[in-house]
Amino acid sequence: MLTTKYRELGLLPEVISYCTDIEKELKERFEKIDQVAEYNQLKVLKAFHDAKVNTQCFDYASGYGYDDYGRDTLEKVYANVFHTEAALVRPQITCGTHALSLALAANLRPGDELLSVSGRPYDTLEEVIGIRPSKGSLAEYNITYDEVLLRPDGSFDLEGIKKAIKPNTRMCAIQRSKGYATRPSFGVDTIKEVIDVIRSVREDMIIMVDNCYGEFVELMEPSDVGADLTVGSLIKNPGGGLAPMGGYIVGKEECIEQCAFRLTAPGLGREVGASLDVMKSFFQGLFLAPTVVASAEKSAIFAANVFERLGFDCVPDSKEDRHDIIQSVVLKSPEALIAFCRGIQGAAPVDSYVTPMPWDMPGYDSQVIMAAGAFIQGSSIELSADGPLREPYAVYFQGGLTYYHGKYGIMNALQQLVNDKIVNL
Ligand SMILES: *Cc1c(COP(=O)(O)O)cnc(C)c1O
Repeated sequence: MLTTKYRELGLLPEVISYCTDIEKELKERFEKIDQVAEYNQLKVLKAFHDAKVNTQCFDYASGYGYDDYGRDTLEKVYANVFHTEAALVRPQITCGTHALSLALAANLRPGDELLSVSGRPYDTLEEVIGIRPSKGSLAEYNITYDEVLLRPDGSFDLEGIKKAIKPNTRMCAIQRSKGYATRPSFGVDTIKEVIDVIRSVREDMIIMVDNCYGEFVELMEPSDVGADLTVGSLIKNPGGGLAPMGGYIVGKEECIEQCAFRLTAPGLGREVGASLDVMKSFFQGLFLAPTVVASAEKSAIFAANVFERLGFDCVPDSKEDRHDIIQSVVLKSPEALIAFCRGIQGAAPVDSYVTPMPWDMPGYDSQVIMAAGAFIQGSSIELSADGPLREPYAVYFQGGLTYYHGKYGIMNALQQLVNDKIVNL
């Protein structure tokens, strides 16, 4: 029965049986993921209860947004989930890069230095910081930048970090997920070690974690182990596939207040910013996020197991513990990268018939190919794949609102590689 459906969706018998055999070995790992999802579901539910979420939270709010009840309650829920003093969760925060840019610009002043302790940060932050010159970058405001590279094995250079902290180093940034790099993503326990080292040198350092793609993958979040600012995008994990836009910043009251004054205006801060009619999707998305993240993670594990056995390096590898929902597969050639993306696109519920092409994307320094047929444009908690057209032609696969969809996407990606004679089963 199932085979017939897969055949209808374009898969050949050898691809179906190859993938089905692999899935049978993954049962125990999937059970562990379900356990984390169950814990996080209860954590989110408790946060709703403690904030007394009610139907009034979903009401439309317009204009200045004074006393926007839904928005204020949602921010309480986020603070409860992340165990922080405060939260800023807004549709006016347009994306993850904006949220990170906001957290940086709001908490740094001219003369301060930002230190990235996890190597070169995510591509789009290069212009924010001014590593690549840009209008309005931190560099233009005389905020300097330094970085400590990861060691060759991908671990933190703790001694190097201690040495790099200067008298004017005001903030340390840690990126949890690998982004477009082939290095491991960090577990919250590893992030705790770095935070402790930084605090041993400078107790009052502002520590910010780029939490993109990491939310709900583990039992704890960076905010549980001492981060002052934890930042992410709502069209990734915590939006649960329902939030149509937005970003969040959670952390210390003092740091969040700075962010609010920068987002709106000094003096206005959190008091303004109408939530219009997006609150229901923000609440409901957060409510679903733990199980959606679990589906995405299972899809990623399935992908690693399928492609590693065919001789493609995978990060994380097929057996490793996961710290985010991203799976990179080193495809070794532009042809394979493009075929993979074609397979993911062909599996989408929306725009399945279009062919993804490489293009010059704002904020990135090489061409990028992206496959996504999402309900929310650009959403990467939905099944999607992307990768820069440069060595080693790694694809970054993520998302899947349901595991069954993610699984089919991977099978279809393999089918394209088989069709193009890049892979022989
Ligand atoms: C996606 C991502 C960002 C940027 O988020 P956008 O919403 O795409 O702007 C920043 N850091 C990391 C690690 C990411 O994965």
